[in-house]
Amino acid sequence: MPEISPNKPYRIGRSKTGLGLFATRKIKKGSKIVRYFGPMLDSRNKKHQNVDNKYLFEISNRWTIDGSVRKNIARYINHACRPNAESDVNKRKRRVIIRAVKTIQPGEEINYDYGTDYFKIFLKPIGCKCDHCEKRRAKKEAEKRADARAEKQRLKLKAEKKAAKDVARAVAKPAKTKAVKTKAVKAKAVKTKAATTKSLKTKSLTTNPLKVKSTRTKAATAKTASKLARGKASPHARGGGQPTRTKASRTRPLKSSAAAPGPERASAT
Ligand SMILES: [Zn+2]
Repeated sequence: MPEISPNKPYRIGRSKTGLGLFATRKIKKGSKIVRYFGPMLDSRNKKHQNVDNKYLFEISNRWTIDGSVRKNIARYINHACRPNAESDVNKRKRRVIIRAVKTIQPGEEINYDYGTDYFKIFLKPIGCKCDHCEKRRAKKEAEKRADARAEKQRLKLKAEKKAAKDVARAVAKPAKTKAVKTKAVKAKAVKTKAATTKSLKTKSLTTNPLKVKSTRTKAATAKTASKLARGKASPHARGGGQPTRTKASRTRPLKSSAAAPGPERASAT
């Protein structure tokens, strides 16, 4: 670890994400903390284009500070989304100063916002571990838990309500059967009513001579028709029923054709 002069208001120490820079004395808002320091990389220099590490601080399209050198104390400063310091870039002088944006108390970790690009490439994939994001995440988790609890409570209440309803239904069942019975009785009454009206109608029909005639003729035709049908059917009923009989007798002889050849002949006569 690089040595830090005791008259500096910070020290390197353990942080949540590894090492970090911590205030050892009160640092006033707006005051310079440390310079982000390192060799200057020129984008027009082909050799410089191959340099790649996590500590590159782009000042402009052309100039980038390679902050990976040990002497650069500012590289220990971690990122935060709601920081207490900022990187103050002077493009003309190609200088970057880390400056307090709030008064920082002794023991407090110093941090600044690394910028959207760094956040997207390095922090978003693993999840930002700054206080703000951790708090937000914790809040979200707490909300999720609260929602889950509320949902559980809702389901429990629903189940209880249903159970209470079932009990109420079970208690109210006898009364209901009674009601059904009365309904049935009522239905019966209605039926009898209908029957009476029917008989009344038939009565009225008989009183109407014309209609009676027509019904009689109808009845007569039906009678004749049935007679005819019977007449036609009668031959089959008496002697013409042969086919069924022969069939029955034919199935029998298969078992005892020699012993009892009779049925066929008997039926034929
Ligand atoms: Zn964050």
